[in-house]
Amino acid sequence: MKIGVYPGSFDPFTIGHLDVLKNAAGLFDVVYVAVLNNSAKSPVFSVEERVEMLDRIIESEGLKNVRSGSFGGLLVDYAKQIGAQYLIRGLRAITDFEYEFQIDAVNRHLDPGIRTVYFMANPAHSFLSSSNVREIGEMGGSIEGLVPHCNYHYLRERLARQK
Ligand code: ADP
Repeated sequence: MKIGVYPGSFDPFTIGHLDVLKNAAGLFDVVYVAVLNNSAKSPVFSVEERVEMLDRIIESEGLKNVRSGSFGGLLVDYAKQIGAQYLIRGLRAITDFEYEFQIDAVNRHLDPGIRTVYFMANPAHSFLSSSNVREIGEMGGSIEGLVPHCNYHYLRERLARQK
């Protein structure tokens, strides 16, 4: 069975992330979409809130082979724990590539058996990041169409309270 893990901060999960997740769900038998619990990044949304938002997306998109999760240590250890042989990442621009290139080298060093699969961002979402969703939402702009619809109302209110 081919199992992949799509890790990220997902602070919050955008339609760019959703595009990568759907592509991965079509390729792997099971995909774990996992929130990185990294307090050093001072996320706006708690791990619990982010996992709840993922659960709503999985349910409303009918992604039957996708499971949510979170992890705090090394990604390769989490992958081992859930039996995943593949890591999944998305690539937007050259800057993503440089970062991903380094992370891949580190992960291969830690676990030579692990491989990463990359999906190129849909050009329509290549500008989209969690940080610009947060900024737009906190400043009262519309985030409709930038985040999965099932989380839109929740995020609009939550980000408006954040500023
Ligand atoms: P991280 O902090 O791990 O980079 P992110 O939540 O920012 O977490 O992103 C998770 C993954 O999704 C990364 O591989 C990132 O390149 C990818 N990604 C982010 N935004 C998009 C997008 N708009 N389209 C495609 N992939 C994206």
